[in-house]
Amino acid sequence: MKHPVFAANWKMNQAPADAEAFLRQFLAYYPKTQDRTVIFFPSALSLHTVTIALQDRSDIKVGVQNIHWEDHGAFTGENSASIARGAGARYTLVGHSERRHVFGETDEQAGKKVAAAVRAGLTPLFCVGETLAEREAGRTVDVVLRQLRAGVAEVDKAQLHTFLLAYEPVWAIGTGKTATPADASTVHMAIRQELRTLAGARGEGIPILYGGSVNRGNAGSLLAAPEVGGLLVGGASLEADGWASIVRN
Ligand code: PEP
Repeated sequence: MKHPVFAANWKMNQAPADAEAFLRQFLAYYPKTQDRTVIFFPSALSLHTVTIALQDRSDIKVGVQNIHWEDHGAFTGENSASIARGAGARYTLVGHSERRHVFGETDEQAGKKVAAAVRAGLTPLFCVGETLAEREAGRTVDVVLRQLRAGVAEVDKAQLHTFLLAYEPVWAIGTGKTATPADASTVHMAIRQELRTLAGARGEGIPILYGGSVNRGNAGSLLAAPEVGGLLVGGASLEADGWASIVRN
């Protein structure tokens, strides 16, 4: 039986007061439940507010959208995994397509960030995904597995079973285009196979989320697809009742 994970990536939205108002509404729509996990990834500046607003809801977790790979030092404007943990985060996104393609983050940097997350006690939600050109060239699985191997290169593979993964095709993020459930499943199965190779039997239980223009209309069919263990959602997580209907799937 699936225990789905629903992750909300708020990107550069929801100032602290907006986040508080959102959560007041959302919590009214979403009573406590043990059969699924919900994680919010607010802006780093709203992290503390979100943590406080959720302190009575152990079923809902909080993460940070980005960390630096160093633990501390002269990196003006950056946040480390340990600072994020101190502000309440227990998870971090790493390798999100906007980090890779808007900010030029490399596979190697993503790997260093995963290692920094593990050092500080944050669970990585590690994202992989191909561009449209890579998909059209038939390179989807090669690209995704290359990103995955590089992402976990610096960590002890015995830790891998604690991670979360997300397959997010770049062409589907924020575009209104979604992978079909069958296409998503095909890639998730390739990721699962690689996780078995990397982590043995423990690779079996690692949730693989799908992300890319998920909404309340398509969430159910994506979630029902084989090997889709949850959803990572950007735009559709910004509206409380819409997000509540997605997480109730
Ligand atoms: C994301 O930011 O991870 C994402 C999947 O965005 P959207 O749902 O808006 O496509």
